[in-house]
Amino acid sequence: MTVCFDTELVSRYGGRGPRYTSYPTALQFSEELTADLYRENALASNAGTVPLSLYVHIPFCNTLCYYCGCNKIVTRNQARVERYLEMLYREIDMQSVLFERHRKIEQLHFGGGTPTYLSDKQLHELMAKLRDAFTFDDSDKREFSIEVDPRTVDRGGIRRLAELSFNRLSLGIQDFEPVVQAAVNRIQTPDSVSALVETAREAGFGSVSFDLIYGLPHQTVASFDSTLELVIAMRPDRLAVYNYAHLPQRFKGQRMINDADIPLPEVKLEILHRTIDRLCDSGYEYIGMDHFALPDDELVRARANGTLQRNFQGYSTHRHCDLVALGVSAIGNIGNVFAQSAVTTMEYEALVESGRLPLKKGLVVDHDDSLRAAAIQALMCYDELAFDDFNAAHDIDFATYFAVELERLRPLAEDGLIQLDSSAIIITDKGRLLLRSIAMVFDRYIDHAQNDNRFSKAI
Ligand code: SF4
Repeated sequence: MTVCFDTELVSRYGGRGPRYTSYPTALQFSEELTADLYRENALASNAGTVPLSLYVHIPFCNTLCYYCGCNKIVTRNQARVERYLEMLYREIDMQSVLFERHRKIEQLHFGGGTPTYLSDKQLHELMAKLRDAFTFDDSDKREFSIEVDPRTVDRGGIRRLAELSFNRLSLGIQDFEPVVQAAVNRIQTPDSVSALVETAREAGFGSVSFDLIYGLPHQTVASFDSTLELVIAMRPDRLAVYNYAHLPQRFKGQRMINDADIPLPEVKLEILHRTIDRLCDSGYEYIGMDHFALPDDELVRARANGTLQRNFQGYSTHRHCDLVALGVSAIGNIGNVFAQSAVTTMEYEALVESGRLPLKKGLVVDHDDSLRAAAIQALMCYDELAFDDFNAAHDIDFATYFAVELERLRPLAEDGLIQLDSSAIIITDKGRLLLRSIAMVFDRYIDHAQNDNRFSKAI
């Protein structure tokens, strides 16, 4: 699968848009989704044989990376961490009784914050608690992943994660240049990362993923090229290359970044262009949005066999699972219900302590939402939406139901982002980089006349 970088189209269509880690997006969640409704829905979901995916949010970090826009707590206060874990355990008790034990956990993801902020003992206890509460699938089918801050683990730490049955690692790299690392307050040497990758391979991790960010202070095309050189030599199975969104009004830590040090938009575009070319020339396949993977990685296989999905981790496998989310701000998806926990630890802990599920808002997906979600998934995961297949799967006539959207797609077809005929929408090499803008056509919650500034820029 190839990508064609068309600077003129990128400037025209690379405006703001949702990342579609869900549709409808979290902006549509409301307090109409109550804990009772979630509970009823979770219990009803046991009628099927759908396995489970677990997401566990650990919000703590040792230090602040200035670019960060995540929901995290920078602290060294262990009492605070212990209190959170105590409430998390109580939530695990409350959630696990909703799901029958025959429903195995096929997929597990620890995200943050920094999951490896936790000590070995805390991680061990947390995994033991989860194993006690749910039924883990320990076969090779499992995908148990953890986000790792390379500054918080050594080789021994990686081996211990393997002993806990994690088999996927995601390492936050961002950039290897010392001047960039100093400007964002995140110092980690290529040698230390390389040692962790080597250990992960020896310990049997099936997939190692790197996160990079372009648009950080002091980055240049040449400097990012040096980072790419080092990254490609380490051969991670997957890469996510994110666009830095500088929003200092919204994220206080970003005020530590000097505006004048941020690369100009044209430099950012050139960095992205060069990154795509280099990764594709080095054997990586472009999955979509900001994700790349080696041809034998599960993401590539999942795209080939129809099990690729967009979810809150970006692109992911195990599309068939119900997602149970645990911890502050975490978002779950059981059947047609999305539910998000309280976003502050204070509120999260207060709700759990009072014996209630910590859910604050969410959404019941209606029929129209589910059709639009299916259209967006098809375009973002498979670059193609064949009308006959869609009609058969959803019992509608696509051309009639989405007549307005098809009309809205015409200018995009004229500009070469898609091929549009009476049988299908096919994303072209030029459109592949602009998936968000194409998917937005199917979003009924977007004001299509405006460039909505609630979202980050697509490019
Ligand atoms: S980037 Fe990761 S480690 Fe850094 S502050 Fe944000 S969540 Fe914490």
